[in-house]
Formats: sequence, structure tokens, C-alpha cells
Amino acid sequence: MFLRNLGSGSGGNATVVAHEDRAIIVDAGLSRRRMLDGLEGLRLEAVLITHRHHDHLGPMAAKLGAPVWIERENWLAAKDRASGLDGAQFFGSRSFRIGPFHITPFPLPHPGSERWTSHGFRIECGRKRLAYATDLGHAPDEVVEALSGVHVLFLESNHDPEMERASGRDPGTIDWVLSDHGHLSNAQCAETLARIGRPHTVVLGHLSQDCNRPALAREAARKALPRSTRLVLATQDEAGEPVLC
Ligand SMILES: [Zn+2]
Ligand SMILES: [Zn+2]
Repeated sequence: MFLRNLGSGSGGNATVVAHEDRAIIVDAGLSRRRMLDGLEGLRLEAVLITHRHHDHLGPMAAKLGAPVWIERENWLAAKDRASGLDGAQFFGSRSFRIGPFHITPFPLPHPGSERWTSHGFRIECGRKRLAYATDLGHAPDEVVEALSGVHVLFLESNHDPEMERASGRDPGTIDWVLSDHGHLSNAQCAETLARIGRPHTVVLGHLSQDCNRPALAREAARKALPRSTRLVLATQDEAGEPVLC
């Protein structure tokens, strides 16, 4: 199994998870071209959506030639906006199987005041395990548990709180980003990494373009991880290399 991020950040997210010639795409917030090119000929089995925000559920999600899987409250809140979601499949709190992938969704604290929430995924294939978690305001024990014991972890390292406060953004937005239901700061990401054991590779994602710097995210995470763990940063505009599980 491998994971390949195609682009990550508030400008759009999509990640390919593949085994042999079969793939799923987690989040579909990029252009159709970028997502299809990122598959490099793999057979797409499903599109998995973490939550309804535009950078994760874009207009092309249902136009990739595979069923869209989404949690029901997110679907209810988004179905009128994103065309082609009529035939969506729903996941709840139980594990489910798509092709060779055994998928366990888990709720993430984001955005707080709605009926819907974001979801992370733990994906297993044979003996290989990976986890994907982005858009969460903090990492409660249940989330730490879901991220533990995997070979590859994709985790958001969204912002530096000082840069966020000085950003000049709308105060309500700043308060929300920094809240328990917003996004993980670099320090919160690092604290989470320190609690999850020893993945062989960590991919940091969803870095804010305005309120973070790659060097800050990398430095915080590096201190929290054992030396043997490889650290990779996902970028907004370019697809990363495949990360083997
Ligand atoms: Zn997002
Ligand atoms: Zn979001």
C-alpha cells in the first residue's frame, strides 16, 4: 500500500491511497485533471470525503468515475451544492471495506457548531496500516488511539498561533481556527505525534499559506518524533512522491 498526496491546504486537498492497481482518493478538493493525473492509471474504487468544506468536497468529487463515500450529516449539508452526490454512499462509525482496503472512520473535532463533523480514516490493507487526519481543533484520546500503531500517518500541521493572530483575518475566523474545533497548530500536531508511537513516515499536511512556514511545521514535528521516522511535507501546488507503507 502507498499514500500519495496530490495537494494539501485550504486551496484544496486530495490524497491517493493505493494497493497494486487499485486506489481510493481521500478528499476531492482539487481540479479533475490533477486528481485523475495523480492516479497514474490506477483503478479508482471510491472517493472518500472527510467533511463538507469546499477544500475537501469540491465540485469534481462526483466526476471522477467512482462512488463518493461521505458521512450522512455532511451529505445533507452539502448535497445541494455539489452536483452528482445523489448516489453517494454513506459511512457511519463502523469499519467498511472497499476493494482491498479496510477503512475505519473516526470523528474529528471540527467545526463545532454544526450537526456534521470532520472524519479521519484508518486504512488497512493486509498487514499495512495508515491513518489520515486533517481539519481537527485538537486531538482527544480517541483520535490519538486511532492514529497509533500505523506505518504511515498523514496529519495536519495547520498554523503558527502567533502568525494566525497577526494575520489580519476576520477576528471570528481567527478565533475559530485557534479553537478546539478549528485546526491543529504546529505545537498541537507535535504533541499529538509524541503520543502515537513510531510510524516510519509522517506526512504533514494542510499547512496554512499565510499563517505557517514549512520550516516551523517541520521543526516542531521533528522534535516530537524519533530519529528513525521520516518526515515529509505535503504542499498545496504539487503532488508529493508516493510514500510506501
Ligand atoms: Zn480544510
Ligand atoms: Zn475544514
